Amino acid sequence: MTETVVHRVAIVGGGLVGTLAAIYFANRGWQVTVFELRKDPRHEDNALLSNRSINLALSVRGLNALKKLGLGLHEQVLDSVIPMKGRMLHVDRGRLVSQPYGVFGECINSIDRAQLLNLLLNTAEELANVKILFEHQLKYCDFDSGMLLLENHSNGSEVRQTVDLIVGADGAYSTVRNQLMRSVRMNFQQEYIPHAYCELNIPPVTDANGRSKFAMDPNHLHIWPRHSFMMIALPNTNKSFTCTLFMPFEEFGAIKTENDLMSFFQKHFPDSIPLMGEQNLKDEYFRNPKGPMVSIKCTPYNYKDRGIIIGDAAHCMVPFYGQGMNCGFEDVFLLNDFLDKYNVDDAKDINEFRESLNRALDAYTERRHTDAAAICDLAMRNYIEMRSDVVKPLYIIRKRIEGA
Ligand code: FAD
Repeated sequence: MTETVVHRVAIVGGGLVGTLAAIYFANRGWQVTVFELRKDPRHEDNALLSNRSINLALSVRGLNALKKLGLGLHEQVLDSVIPMKGRMLHVDRGRLVSQPYGVFGECINSIDRAQLLNLLLNTAEELANVKILFEHQLKYCDFDSGMLLLENHSNGSEVRQTVDLIVGADGAYSTVRNQLMRSVRMNFQQEYIPHAYCELNIPPVTDANGRSKFAMDPNHLHIWPRHSFMMIALPNTNKSFTCTLFMPFEEFGAIKTENDLMSFFQKHFPDSIPLMGEQNLKDEYFRNPKGPMVSIKCTPYNYKDRGIIIGDAAHCMVPFYGQGMNCGFEDVFLLNDFLDKYNVDDAKDINEFRESLNRALDAYTERRHTDAAAICDLAMRNYIEMRSDVVKPLYIIRKRIEGA
């Protein structure tokens, strides 16, 4: 292709996956526009607009995608994580059982969602060929012409843009996916689980010297497995923990008063009450939303050389395997790899560009769908492991032997 031709990509969704994709495409020399429905989360007033989890487990899968970019993001991210080397089971009445993730110190890493997103947004925005437009909601797109129609919520105006490729990174309820369904014979499967999640908090404690410290061991992912439900806690760099209570909607619904809540916690999570503080627990429980969890699989992910979905838009999984974002990051890295493999940017003319892009996107879909669907299934199964199997006696013995 002549050197003067710059390919244009529109990325719908400026969440974790869309923003990483913007950086990857910009690195290839493409002209990138990110359209994000929400306000800029880096402005203080907007920071709490999302009710998604406060911290996330970042694993090797996600870290590799940052590393392969080669912009130093990987190192910056590792500087701000807390490694979790195993699970800490809160079995009964506060008895603790540590289960290491591996014999060589393997770990997953707790990271602040907002901090990670801000880092990605700042990195993307520093690149000359990336434009991020907040408060822009995709309403409609036509893949064959590459046209997107958006509403600018800041002034109510209609915005149109035409690009070479439309990437949908607009999450579980993706508009790009809905539009894609009109153009391809997409198989689509969606399942809500009967459980909801609610975030709570364990604040830091102050030691005898007046220093702030963690109330529990920060290098573990803490789990209170209670068979049909569970609570987990991940550490934050400010020495607090974010706890997530997962249980059926009906059980949440049965807790109507502060007394109901305290009886429930005294029965099932007594050791967590002094850690959270009674008033803090009551405030957080009744203030915070009870979010649904959905698993979504679909295929294909692309329409010819014109559009593709990645991240939760393509494969939304229940959070029990801690892999949703990690897989989304891996999508971005793999997609980039397929564009390389099919020499998309070396095409001699527009026809060759279109053909090689089509082949790259088809190959990506074929390769990625099997893996993504498998991880969705593993995530579903891991809920039973985390809330129940981990405390079965044989399981504990086996884990102890493996860790010995
Ligand atoms: P999203 O984060 O949903 O971002 C999509 C973006 O698109 C949003 O900013 C949205 O505003 C925007 N958008 C939507 N519609 C439009 C539109 N029409 N026009 C323009 N913009 C639009 N994953 C892990 O890897 N590790 C974990 O430990 C982990 N823990 C989790 C815990 C919980 C409780 C939950 C719910 C999820 C967890 N996940 C975890 C999953 C992770 O949060 C998601 O996989 C990840 O956020 C997906 O990123 P995304 O960018 O694809 O989608």
